[in-house]
Amino acid sequence: MIADDFAALKLFITGPTHIRPEIREAASLPEFGHRDKENDKRSGPIFDGLARLAQLPEGYRTFLINGSGSTCMEASIRSLVADDETLLNVTVGAFGDLYYNIALANGKKAVKLAFEPGRAVNPEKLAAAIDEHGASVVTLTHNETSTGVENDIVTLCKVVRDKGAMPLVDGVSIFGGADLRLAEARPAIYCTATQKSLALPAGFGIGFVSPEAAEKAATVSNKGHSTDILKQLDKAALGQALTTPNTALLNQMAVQLDYIVNTEGVQERFARHAKMREMAHSFVEGLDGFDLFAQEGFRSPTLTTVRCPRHVTADRLKSVLKERMRELGYLFDPGYGKLNGRLEQEGRAVMFRIGHMGDITPEMLSEYFEVLGEQLATL
Ligand SMILES: *Cc1c(COP(=O)(O)O)cnc(C)c1O
Repeated sequence: MIADDFAALKLFITGPTHIRPEIREAASLPEFGHRDKENDKRSGPIFDGLARLAQLPEGYRTFLINGSGSTCMEASIRSLVADDETLLNVTVGAFGDLYYNIALANGKKAVKLAFEPGRAVNPEKLAAAIDEHGASVVTLTHNETSTGVENDIVTLCKVVRDKGAMPLVDGVSIFGGADLRLAEARPAIYCTATQKSLALPAGFGIGFVSPEAAEKAATVSNKGHSTDILKQLDKAALGQALTTPNTALLNQMAVQLDYIVNTEGVQERFARHAKMREMAHSFVEGLDGFDLFAQEGFRSPTLTTVRCPRHVTADRLKSVLKERMRELGYLFDPGYGKLNGRLEQEGRAVMFRIGHMGDITPEMLSEYFEVLGEQLATL
């Protein structure tokens, strides 16, 4: 059997993430018609659960778009940036760059404001860049998965609003692991996905849309079909997806959101993530020659980035450490490839990542640290 060769590794990467046995089993619940009333039994708990987990402000609406996080980001660009507007893409790493590249690929007038790897967005520089370029839309990354930086979206969205511009936020790797503070930040749209802190397989982008974003989308032309957030919202009002969804994933999603809201508890889930961040920081502080890569005060609750001693190369992380960890049953994350390439080229120390998001538990994490600590000592 072909599947006999599939390894059961414990995933400590930054997505996709560990899936609980109950959620794996939920994938074998019965298939159903996505336009049939059976769909409602899933969509009720899903949309309700998403709103509670996001602590969604009054008036915001949710859609599920087939694809993944970047599909939702693309829909936000296609639906909320007019051809004659200037879009400012603020980036602190690879996923900020992705938003910029999506904008360019869709023919939008985009300019980029970049910060050094490991640093958060500086609000004064953001304000100056909006003025300089006359930007009317700004994209922000809430949690930069390549560098482990969590930006303060409440402060940054306020800067964008004070300049009369509209903030679009990529929150792909943090939704489900922390309080997003959307009621204070009030982004026009917040894009996320299923396969990171929500601990489900990939398959949907998730969009949280403010009333003013829906109004603006009505004035933007050439939104495409599946990237039109108004078409998405129309179907979402029926609890449905615009195009045929993965019904196995909907089954899993309904079971997972019911569990998060009614069994684990939303606040308890956030507290578990905060605890795992503390654990990761203590682990790194206890390692000889390694230190935390991300700027203090802006360190992600869902992943931790670790700067290595100078003698450790990116290749050693990837070819040696990752393979040794695999033999021990774990999928280790040797850092974002392009970033480590850049760091090496600049003669700087490389880094690796520890994913501690979704349904990873403190017990699983401390077991991982025991094994990883032993292996790091031999590098
Ligand atoms: C993973 C990720 C994305 C890309 O999402 P996909 O679901 O792979 O399309 C975008 N932004 C951030 C911050 C991410 O972590």
